[in-house]
Amino acid sequence: MTTTDADNDLTAAGVFWDLDPLLPAPSDDGLNALLGRADAIADDLAQTRGHVPELDAAGLATFMEKLAELHDAVGRAGSFAGLDFATDTTDPARGARMQRIEERATAIGTKLVFFELEWAELPDEQVEALLADERLAFARHHLRSARRYRPHLLSEPEEVILTEKSLTGRSAWERLFEEQVSSIEVQLDGAPATLEAALGRLHAPDRDMRRGAAAAISAALQPGLRTRAYILNTLLSDKSTDDRLRHYESWIASRNLSNEASDESVQALVDAVQRRYTIPQRWYALKAQLLGLDRIADYDRMASVADVEAKVGWRAAKELVHDAYASFSTELADTVTKFYDGAWIDAPARPGKRPGAFCAYTVPSHHPYVLLNWTARRRDVLTLAHELGHGLHAYLARDQGVYHQATPLTLAETASVFGETVTFGRLLEEVTEPQERLALLASNLEDQIATVFRQIAMNRFENAIHNGRREEGELSIERIGELWAETQTAMLGDAVEITDDYRAWWSYIPHFIGTPGYVYAYAYGQLLALSVYAQYEARGPAFVPQYLDLLRAGGSMAPEELGKLVDVDLADPEFWDRGLDIIERQLDATTEAARAAGRLS
Ligand SMILES: [Zn+2]
Repeated sequence: MTTTDADNDLTAAGVFWDLDPLLPAPSDDGLNALLGRADAIADDLAQTRGHVPELDAAGLATFMEKLAELHDAVGRAGSFAGLDFATDTTDPARGARMQRIEERATAIGTKLVFFELEWAELPDEQVEALLADERLAFARHHLRSARRYRPHLLSEPEEVILTEKSLTGRSAWERLFEEQVSSIEVQLDGAPATLEAALGRLHAPDRDMRRGAAAAISAALQPGLRTRAYILNTLLSDKSTDDRLRHYESWIASRNLSNEASDESVQALVDAVQRRYTIPQRWYALKAQLLGLDRIADYDRMASVADVEAKVGWRAAKELVHDAYASFSTELADTVTKFYDGAWIDAPARPGKRPGAFCAYTVPSHHPYVLLNWTARRRDVLTLAHELGHGLHAYLARDQGVYHQATPLTLAETASVFGETVTFGRLLEEVTEPQERLALLASNLEDQIATVFRQIAMNRFENAIHNGRREEGELSIERIGELWAETQTAMLGDAVEITDDYRAWWSYIPHFIGTPGYVYAYAYGQLLALSVYAQYEARGPAFVPQYLDLLRAGGSMAPEELGKLVDVDLADPEFWDRGLDIIERQLDATTEAARAAGRLS
């Protein structure tokens, strides 16, 4: 059998990235040269140990410039090893090389730990006087925000004890939880399957298959549930102790601080999303009709509403995404061309390659790379637009240098969601067949609901268990299940039947254990990005220069300041509704498409 040009287009055959330009010399010689250089810079910088308080603005600027050179060298080596590994995670040689680079990078970093500690110790007046100097503009925001934990730091011996004991405390409990979850076996069709495989069946069009998978998952979650609940209780209590010792006012305050988000803006987000819980409720009522049910159950939520889908070739996808970006900025479209022509993308799916998709910023003196697993679905076109959005953001912000190129977490999705939304509009124009249109709209809406509403419902669960543990003491399995069901029901209302079995489904989610408070950031980032897009809708081409300024600014300012560049006011309580309005309009469009497809009675 011969492979035709059309086959190659469907698999994006031969679309590989070229990592060699990251290195000064090929392969291990290049990696060793970079790490050797970084090591020498680290030794040089380490001479400043104990003398940070004596640095003047010129001295500090020199220190930060050298440190940036070090980050560049380590970043190039780490990017090369990590990206090379991502294309074949089964190759032991690549794995070992990545491990070796990581270990050397850690050793280099350890030599410089003193700087952050000494910097945090300086009085505010001295810091502000130093940062007022223009020679430090390239590191100003970074240096200022590095001190934001100052009021919550303990004395050095106390910090050392907490760090050392956490290995056998929090970290040990986290690892036990991970091991417990990875050992969960679900009985599917009489044979043991992974939890992942069983969860995948919830997308099946056949209801019996979904129901069967859900029952098997619920059964599989019972063994070890007591242990997982105990781990959760222990970590809730541990967090409560930490927050008390470090003077955090609420369970979420430390997370907000690390996200550079104010407590008020996060609370405003949570309130706004809860007020619009009618959106998921309307959708699930509509979905029941599409599936021919009176009411859907928890295990029906992921079911696909249509199984027809035409394939999209790589060339057509590239063109569509390029045109979408060209529709609002030639500068962005030209940069997209650089990704296509410069071997900055690794597209084909192949065995051993890391699943999913991502964009790696690498270092500002180089360019970003995009990894995809291209399968020629419409969704893949949106993924291409999404990851290129990250890539464009990184590329436009490269002049900010190593300290300010990347945005804080809450703004990291701005360009990706923006580009994806523009591309989605184009894609929708092309799809005229009613069932396909419905499928496209429905899958996009479900992604929005998962990112915004589901994550906020999970945040409410976290809020309930953290406060519950602090006020009521140790929480029983029944109590945790009750709080899980309550917070899910609040979002789903009468639209979805929550079965009793569902009460244990909190118990495999890693975020509650490993990164408490993290989940709201998904909703924050998505709605922020959508409201930036709403500005573009409202103002058209006049908005584009401001938007490009936002991208160029990277992470050189606090999130609130960055928002102001595009007239977005994160402190405005109504702010979040703009993004939510867009999702509501998508729901209206999906309802319309369902009617047009003859799927509503
Ligand atoms: Zn993203």
